[in-house]
Amino acid sequence: MSDVQQLPTRNEVPTEYQWDLTTIFKTDEEFESAFKAVQGEAARVAELKGTLTNAEQLLTGVKAVFSLYRHLERVYVYGSLKNDQDTSNATYQAMNARVSSLDAEVQTATAWFEPEVLQIAKADLDLMIAQNPGLQLYQQFFDELGEQRGHVLSPDQEKLLAGAADIFGASATTFSVLTDADLTFPVVQDDEGNDVQLTEGVYERLIQSVKPEVREGAFKALYRVYSQFRHTLASTLASQVKVHNYSAKVRHYESARQAAMSANHVPATVYESLVRSVNDHLDLLHRYVDLRKQILGLDTMHMWDLYTPITGKPTLKFTYEEAQQKALEALAVLGPDYTHHVQEAFDQSWIDVVENKGKRSGAYSGGMYDTNPFILLNWNQGLESLYTLVHEMGHSMHSYYTRHNQPYVYGDYSIFVAEIASTTNENLLTEHLLATEKDPKVRAYVLNHYLDGFKGTVFRQTQFAEFEDYIHRQDAAGQPLTADNMSDFYGHLNERYYGDGVVSDPQIFDEWDRIPHFYYDYYVYQYATGFAAATTLSGEILTGQAEKVSAYLDYLKAGSSDLPLNVMKRAGVDMTQTGYLDKAFETFENRLNEFETLSQQLK
Ligand SMILES: [Zn+2]
Repeated sequence: MSDVQQLPTRNEVPTEYQWDLTTIFKTDEEFESAFKAVQGEAARVAELKGTLTNAEQLLTGVKAVFSLYRHLERVYVYGSLKNDQDTSNATYQAMNARVSSLDAEVQTATAWFEPEVLQIAKADLDLMIAQNPGLQLYQQFFDELGEQRGHVLSPDQEKLLAGAADIFGASATTFSVLTDADLTFPVVQDDEGNDVQLTEGVYERLIQSVKPEVREGAFKALYRVYSQFRHTLASTLASQVKVHNYSAKVRHYESARQAAMSANHVPATVYESLVRSVNDHLDLLHRYVDLRKQILGLDTMHMWDLYTPITGKPTLKFTYEEAQQKALEALAVLGPDYTHHVQEAFDQSWIDVVENKGKRSGAYSGGMYDTNPFILLNWNQGLESLYTLVHEMGHSMHSYYTRHNQPYVYGDYSIFVAEIASTTNENLLTEHLLATEKDPKVRAYVLNHYLDGFKGTVFRQTQFAEFEDYIHRQDAAGQPLTADNMSDFYGHLNERYYGDGVVSDPQIFDEWDRIPHFYYDYYVYQYATGFAAATTLSGEILTGQAEKVSAYLDYLKAGSSDLPLNVMKRAGVDMTQTGYLDKAFETFENRLNEFETLSQQLK
């Protein structure tokens, strides 16, 4: 069987399945004049350098900078969405390249602004804001910026650091060039016995195969290639860690972790309680792994057996129209206003639905303050696609409510809170499907989706976070980061996480060498905290109490008008305490119990 389908060209996609970008600019000509206007505006903002000497001029400066960002984003979004809908279209490739350089131009034109604000003594700045009503809107912005006092260096030193940005990024670039471009993987067999060229993308598919030999073949072939480069990859990762530690040190942070977390205003306790709580609940992961082994009927279970759906190949299918209906039903608990805007997303062409030649893969929610919160999908009719739809809708509704309730300066939200809105929607869908689907096979599939999501997000990302923290601490203590040191730690960490139910395959000791997230600087823990927080929030929403739902909507409306932890606390989850983590593990355990019972029945 061949699954080489001919994809439609962009022109062949019916307009009802395309997003409507004329709501941003009616024509490319309109885009061109907006583009020129941004260039002019950038030049004028650059000239404001050195003028922030009194309240009035500070107001002029801050307004000018935000107005420039706002106009830039509009052209940026148009260029990048046009390119994503068909990356083989030369006109839009060029447009996308141009908006990227315009972005760089704007960054340069505004680079003076924040250091100059931070040079104003705190007492003087507070006085300026108190005396000028126009500046009061920016109070929260100035407060957050002010937290960098003591961590921003002199203008000359900042200039030296900024000029070395490419050099600091070199090892991450080398990692991605090596792994994306230069590494070639062998040919392996897929489910149908066809020879396929292995890539990371193909690996992702094959590791989920229902045939053990296909999974094993892909796993061994992939790691065989990486293992030949483990010393090179240790060197790129170690250099990246040194960059994080160096930057933190010269900016007077205690550690790279403190530097990264304070950028989001998140205290260290959030990270530490996550690691502690996950470790306290590893027995649940071990139970899940044992159950997986039992249901799959394996004598020994290997690391390559952890991604195949336990329930076999999914059979559930939805048309896009049926999925819209399901999404509306599942999200109805969020109230009529929420579903009204979801309906708007469907009716007013916010979503680019189907795949076409050259379209960017995957899914995302995008747009900016003055546009619709567009969604890119590559719809394929399975349950996974329905989950993707409600996930991205969660992001888009978050954006919608924020942009319609906050001024531009607070019209976005931090990464720390972003995944909470999308995961809450996924949880609401899971609850809805479990409440309405009677077919035990479908229920088992839904539960499997949840359990695997939890394993991949809460357990696996925390495992990553522990490794990341270890290598940063080792380097800070002057210990060398060699491939052998890192593999030794990683392999034993992996054994601790998965327990005795899984064979400790030697290849997995090297898994660290292929994970791009380790180059991001304390990013992964937020996937785990976000997933756990969403469990509490969806639980609160499903009580049906009006004040809980409205507290949740207030979070969606808050944008960056307050610190992320304050916003979440008002929504109903205190992320400085461990209660929300306990609650997440309780839900995981309940679903694990239900899955266990169901799988007995399905035998
Ligand atoms: Zn997301």
